[in-house]
Amino acid sequence: MSRDLPADEFRSAMHRVADLVADYLEGVGDRPVLPAVKPGEVRSVLPAAPPEAPEPLDTILDDYLRVIEPNLTHWNHPGFLAYFAITGSGPGILGETLAAGLNVNAMLWRTSPAGTELEERVCAWLARMMDLPADFRGHINDTASSSSLVALAAARHRLPVDVRVRGLSGRPEVPPLTLYASDQAHSSIDKSAIVLGLGQENVRRIETDDEFRMSVPALTRAIERDRAEGRLPMAVVATVGTTSTTSVDPVPEIADLCARFGVWLHVDAAYAGSAAICPEYRALMPGIERADSLVVNPHKWLFTPVDCSLLYVRDPALLKAAFSLVPEYLRTAEDSEVTNLMDYGFQLGRRFRSLKLWMVIRAFGVEGLRERIREHCALARDLAAWIAADPRFELAAPVPFSAVCFRARVEEDPDRFNERLLARVNAAGPVFLSHTVLKGRYTLRVAIGNLRTERGHIEQLWELVGRAYEELRGE
Ligand code: PLP
Repeated sequence: MSRDLPADEFRSAMHRVADLVADYLEGVGDRPVLPAVKPGEVRSVLPAAPPEAPEPLDTILDDYLRVIEPNLTHWNHPGFLAYFAITGSGPGILGETLAAGLNVNAMLWRTSPAGTELEERVCAWLARMMDLPADFRGHINDTASSSSLVALAAARHRLPVDVRVRGLSGRPEVPPLTLYASDQAHSSIDKSAIVLGLGQENVRRIETDDEFRMSVPALTRAIERDRAEGRLPMAVVATVGTTSTTSVDPVPEIADLCARFGVWLHVDAAYAGSAAICPEYRALMPGIERADSLVVNPHKWLFTPVDCSLLYVRDPALLKAAFSLVPEYLRTAEDSEVTNLMDYGFQLGRRFRSLKLWMVIRAFGVEGLRERIREHCALARDLAAWIAADPRFELAAPVPFSAVCFRARVEEDPDRFNERLLARVNAAGPVFLSHTVLKGRYTLRVAIGNLRTERGHIEQLWELVGRAYEELRGE
């Protein structure tokens, strides 16, 4: 081989890769969602030592087809209804491919002028689509876990304790900093508290009401108690679309409370934020425009391949003050005129993620994206109606968006029965669901978010659930 793949070999391999991806996407629905593979099986067919001599690309791609593709859980499968189902759509895959070809690192404007300015523009587009204030400034991270960490570091920087310079350890004069989120908030919030040095015991998990929304009276009491006992409330995380049930915390009341106590408001809209592009779903999220920071993941429900998480902040100067650190070798002549994306987080290097989101938004159009989100929510409502009408089952939570939580009603050991029900449905092949525990009870969860999921798949799922129920009752 020359220094890199010769151009003609690269071109023909790229054509083969295009065929592999297109064939995969075309046929993915015919496979079982979960592979029939045991732990360690893939490892056992991979050679322990890397090849010393170059191998032909066709051989490597043959192995990809033989060993890799069949041994994956198929996230692009229309029956993938677990966690938050996602799709790397065609336009998104093309954008990702182009970004790989360019391989730019958009740490500075100089290192990627179009990468920087496209990111700024695309973030402004999505803010507009979500009806967020024009002064929200966005940038792209890999995941919501990173976005929330960065946002909460900015919240910490706003406190009069100068952690950036002085750290937290060995400072008895600094009170414990506290963080508030509902008992339904995502675990990434606790991880942020771990990384930021707050400690897990300073995360207050606030109780939720019957519909899994944060209790504002309980939040008020928690903040007041912490203040009275000498702790320093740092931030409240309100979730818009919680991971288990997609419930929406009462953001307007939480925003009032944050304003009253001078506490940062971070909104975790990682999943449901995408639905805000539809006015009727945006109306379910009043108050998000009052956030100090907000995260939304186009890689969850805006058909953009993993990874792509947008963090919006109201005060970019504060975020920059929390993170900007410019060594001499990264200074450029135009620093005062441009955005250098490295200034807005802990990472220096960054992938060109805006390209795929730009392609998705343009190729579907905002109306096309709205249509797909509406279709997912309509399918979820249909499923919820079937469950509600069937005396064998019950809905476990309201269905504001595209996820449905339900369980079988049985007298004897319902948790064990529902666990077995889930295992049986998943073992059938055409669908994959996940579970959660709500108010102490085992619950099945269907999340609709895949572009290929149609009504027929949801009907098939419902049939499988009914059949598995009858089989288990008969055993
Ligand atoms: N926030 C919410 C509400 C989530 O549901 C999830 C993941 O499902 C996350 C944050 C974490 O997302 P990521 O995997 O992008 O870190």
